[in-house]
Amino acid sequence: MTTVALKAKDYKSGVKPIWCPGCGHFAVFAAITRALAYLELPKERVAMISGIGCSSRLPAYVDSYGFHGLHGRALPLATGLKVARPELNVLVAGGDGDGFSIGGNHFLHACRRNIDLTYIVMDNRVYGMTKGQASPTTAPDWAKSKMTPHGTGVRRFQPAAIALSAGATFIARGYSGDPKGLTHMLVEAITHPGFSFLHVLSPCITFRPDQRSWKTGVHAFAEGPFEEPVEAAREIHADDGLGLGVLYAEKLPVWPPHIKPSGSLAEVEREFLT
Ligand code: SF4
Ligand code: MG
Repeated sequence: MTTVALKAKDYKSGVKPIWCPGCGHFAVFAAITRALAYLELPKERVAMISGIGCSSRLPAYVDSYGFHGLHGRALPLATGLKVARPELNVLVAGGDGDGFSIGGNHFLHACRRNIDLTYIVMDNRVYGMTKGQASPTTAPDWAKSKMTPHGTGVRRFQPAAIALSAGATFIARGYSGDPKGLTHMLVEAITHPGFSFLHVLSPCITFRPDQRSWKTGVHAFAEGPFEEPVEAAREIHADDGLGLGVLYAEKLPVWPPHIKPSGSLAEVEREFLT
């Protein structure tokens, strides 16, 4: 039997995205389908997991296994799935609110476990789905939200620096306005053994029209990718938050270690009940 190579459009479920026209997430969705087609991944070997938010609608749009979970809980859900079904390519998608606020604790621990997941965070520095409140990555003086009319006065969460210090072994930043570069990064992130963190600048055209300026503000990281965390840290701290590229990639042992369970699930259950 000959297998026919799938094209990017074959990974689209046919469910029409309900994002606002011009939202950056359209380009991220397209890049994901292109990366899956490039890697020739069978649909039944891919699972797309998410939490809650505009970007977390992705599992409905990708024709693979998928689960639209609870707010901030995409990473523990994906971790459980990867442990139970290690042969799957587990992609996790979400936004800055979902991933860095309610899901922040899970982000730290997924990074340090170095479990083989690809975590794509579409960062627009705002809660889009709930109508434009400040998120953890919003600048302290952004005063457009009625909830924070004088700004939050709180320093921004630094996703790449935190991922690095928490132990992620692959860190990259892409931009929805650069779909080709984003597709390449996705291919690298998916094939990287261990926890891959892909931070994507994906403008919210409705609540952050100011993010149109990213088009002229983004630039390649001055250097990288690095294998040494200290070098990657220097680059992150020197960067203005709009640097693009693979920043850090290191091969370290992937969790879980190759330990075979000592008994069947039924035995474990019996032991638990007695
Ligand atoms: Fe995209 Fe913002 Fe509209 Fe949500 S509210 S779909 S993030 S443009
Ligand atoms: Mg957001």
